[in-house]
Amino acid sequence: SVEIRKVNKFYGPFQALTDIDLSIPPGKVTCLIGPSGSGKSTLLRCINFLEEYDSGEVLIDGQTIGYDAPGKKMSGRKLREMRRGIGMVFQQFNLWPHMTAQENVAEGLIRVRGLPKAEAASRAAEALRKVGLADRMANHPARLSGGQQQRVAIARAIAMEPKLMLFDEPTSALDPELVGEVLTVMKALAGEGMTMVVVTHEMGFAAHVADQVAFMEKGELVAVDAPARILHQPEDPRIQSFLRTYH
Ligand code: ATP
Ligand code: MG
Repeated sequence: SVEIRKVNKFYGPFQALTDIDLSIPPGKVTCLIGPSGSGKSTLLRCINFLEEYDSGEVLIDGQTIGYDAPGKKMSGRKLREMRRGIGMVFQQFNLWPHMTAQENVAEGLIRVRGLPKAEAASRAAEALRKVGLADRMANHPARLSGGQQQRVAIARAIAMEPKLMLFDEPTSALDPELVGEVLTVMKALAGEGMTMVVVTHEMGFAAHVADQVAFMEKGELVAVDAPARILHQPEDPRIQSFLRTYH
């Protein structure tokens, strides 16, 4: 599980996160929603310490990520060890253009996990089958659609067998007709019991797949609740006004 406790984050004098408290239950999907600039990406990136928080703590299965003690950063080696269990998928797919889909997925298994090439290749093939790309493994990214490229990025993450997956607007860079295939893969992953935190503007996905939805505004976590209670007739006027922009 992930426990976010009283997390504060500043960019210079600007406070991007204020006293964030959030529990991410294992095996569940948590969607983070809110207006642009509300701190969704910043919070997501604090979970794997891609972004350093200034106070409070983020606990991954009971262990604080980033710090050995308040103000005392952990070693790079220890941080890398903790990050091994956390996969991340970004808006931009960041695939290597000179490698095939299969090579892109195998790369981390070889370099980070030290697997022999043949084993990495077969694990990569398996991950690509899972995201529905069994017939595209030999394609380079330029010969894949945006939706297929994002599915390669998801395969690359799940091939590392993470226990937690973070998604930052994974479908925002896609043409509308390609969004569905990526959401379908994410839904399947959720169905297998993967713990997921998903920053998204896809309200349908949040409504149907999330176990809880967290709404952020201006660096604060305004509400966390069951999807229906956030997305249908929320009490908070800030959420009401946000949702109106989607209708
Ligand atoms: P979006 O929906 O547009 O992706 P977001 O909710 O993910 O927005 P963040 O990217 O977390 O928002 O940004 C939160 C606030 O922090 C914004 O006001 C942003 O301008 C600011 N911010 C983000 N990154 C930095 C940075 N590296 N330096 C300074 N300010 C930053
Ligand atoms: Mg963002």
